[in-house]
Amino acid sequence: MTEAAQKSTAGVTFAARLSFEHISHRFSDHTAALHDVTLTAEPGEVLCLLGPSGSGKTTLLRIAAGIEPQSAGRVLLNDREIAGPSVFLPPEQRSIGLVFQDFALFPHMTILDNVRFGLTALSREEARREAIIALERVGLAHYAAAYPHILSGGEQQRVALARALVPRPAVLLMDEPFSGLDSRLKDSVRAETLDILRQSRATAIVVTHDAEEAMRMGDRIALLKDGRLIQVGRAQELYQSPASLFVAGFFSELNILDADARHGAVETPLGRFEAPGLADGTPVAVAIRLSGFDVGERIGDIPARVVSRRFLGVVELLELAVPGADFHLRARVRCGALSSQAKDIWLSIRKSDVLVFERQPENA
Ligand code: ATP
Repeated sequence: MTEAAQKSTAGVTFAARLSFEHISHRFSDHTAALHDVTLTAEPGEVLCLLGPSGSGKTTLLRIAAGIEPQSAGRVLLNDREIAGPSVFLPPEQRSIGLVFQDFALFPHMTILDNVRFGLTALSREEARREAIIALERVGLAHYAAAYPHILSGGEQQRVALARALVPRPAVLLMDEPFSGLDSRLKDSVRAETLDILRQSRATAIVVTHDAEEAMRMGDRIALLKDGRLIQVGRAQELYQSPASLFVAGFFSELNILDADARHGAVETPLGRFEAPGLADGTPVAVAIRLSGFDVGERIGDIPARVVSRRFLGVVELLELAVPGADFHLRARVRCGALSSQAKDIWLSIRKSDVLVFERQPENA
């Protein structure tokens, strides 16, 4: 093979399917971390595990890696059991790569040695060549002889990515890989990482607690809460058709109005909303996205008084008093939509930004 051909194919893996089947986990101190999670990352996809702190994301990742053996259920790689009642493959036999939040580079080793660290099956020269190719792919080959401390956070993250990808894992697991980066750097490193993942064709599972990050990165998103899988789907599905108030609140800031269903609808100080299929008297939460309002000094059908406004750049955040409501409504509107003196205004609500849920104990 020519060097050029070698270069173009190096690091490309055969994408694998990783499945969790009815995974439950309880730690030795009896903390129940996961309850009956069934989820599949399809070959070549980026699946984001999203959820609040303590929801079980890291535990699920550690179970996939083989660092934490699950209490019940099975893990399958390309439909072959790698962890279950009868089999337990140790981490090094799983063809699974890991990237941690703190990058975990060895400070006393050069960048090149950090990247070739895991290539024990290759000769020293072959490992060197593979490591250089991996560094080229993340644009850092010129740092091969340097030590990690001279690299920026974003560059260290790219080295960690090169190190994880160089053994050509079938699946790459990333635990909050961007949380150590400042917000400006985060966007560019995230975009680069996504490009590199696409080129490598590895299946990737990325843990994050940031819904926007999950939407930017994930082909699909799996939302966890208290160790349970709440909803899985494309970003648009979770945003537009959330399965519960919890899911809706994870993806957008909401105003929440409580009311009871009557004749398939709910009456609120902001008007009447459809609540199809709900029996009379059912407690209902009407959730309205902060971005779901149009405001004006002459247009709109709901009168409101501006209580406060905060300039946020492209948009401003309004706090509004509405007749008959014992709470202040929050709205995020385009700057310039209201004059600087506006006090008594009108608003209208976009239907697509209203979500109606039966109040469940989970939603309470
Ligand atoms: P975060 O975003 O804060 O990292 P997470 O969603 O990744 O949270 P996990 O770290 O998986 O959540 O933790 C799930 C639950 O298991 C939590 O209640 C946590 O306190 C508990 N837990 C995690 N590791 C252990 C452990 N080694 N021993 C006992 N309990 C643990």
